[in-house]
Amino acid sequence: MTTTLDAAGRRALIETAAAAVIARADELTALDQAIGDGDHGLNMKRGFEAVLADLDAIAAKPLPEGLKQIGTTMVMKVGGASGPLYGTLFLQLGKSLAELAPDAVPSRAELAAALKAAIVAVKARGKSEVGQKTLLDVLAPVQAALAGGADAAALTACAHEAAAATVPLKAIRGRASFLGDRSIGHMDPGARSSEILISTLAAIAGGNSGAAA
Ligand code: ADP
Ligand code: MG
Repeated sequence: MTTTLDAAGRRALIETAAAAVIARADELTALDQAIGDGDHGLNMKRGFEAVLADLDAIAAKPLPEGLKQIGTTMVMKVGGASGPLYGTLFLQLGKSLAELAPDAVPSRAELAAALKAAIVAVKARGKSEVGQKTLLDVLAPVQAALAGGADAAALTACAHEAAAATVPLKAIRGRASFLGDRSIGHMDPGARSSEILISTLAAIAGGNSGAAA
């Protein structure tokens, strides 16, 4: 197992994750057209393109600082609800991993604890809970799987199942909640973008650089 994550490694990680989301902008937008205002793909694309524009500077920083810069970029560049929410997620991941040794790969326990804290922060920011048809419905089960020892393939499967499990939910937060029962039967766009990020990162961690399913 790789024990260091240097600037080149961080660069590859961020670039691959950003590219995976950007490549699925149309799909995310289509999901948001069904139960929102049809901008989620565009919002995420704008945010990750801004991250890519600063890729060298972000990758040169230690992982926690880089994560914080990604968070700040998401807050500033992504419109809508998802900008502050994803921004909060990345900012808190960076804060939680602050003690990480330079170029160290976070351990499973460190990652699980950081994601747990980030989920708490996203909940506070969105005044939301698991079960309300949001990105939290993917992040929370993935955090539990990570804490429970799931490998990369199991994390990818967990994210995929969790995003699919938002289809029958009724939205309680965000624009989709305006639709009430008519939000039932569609996948939550934010849940899908979280799935894409997680499965892409899991594929890299698992030694398979192939993109997310
Ligand atoms: P907007 O809803 O402002 O158009 P986006 O379309 O970019 O923003 O993002 C929509 C996604 O944001 C939803 O699919 C959902 O996952 C997430 N979301 C919206 N509001 C909340 C909230 N209060 N808490 C958690 N997630 C939310
Ligand atoms: Mg939207």
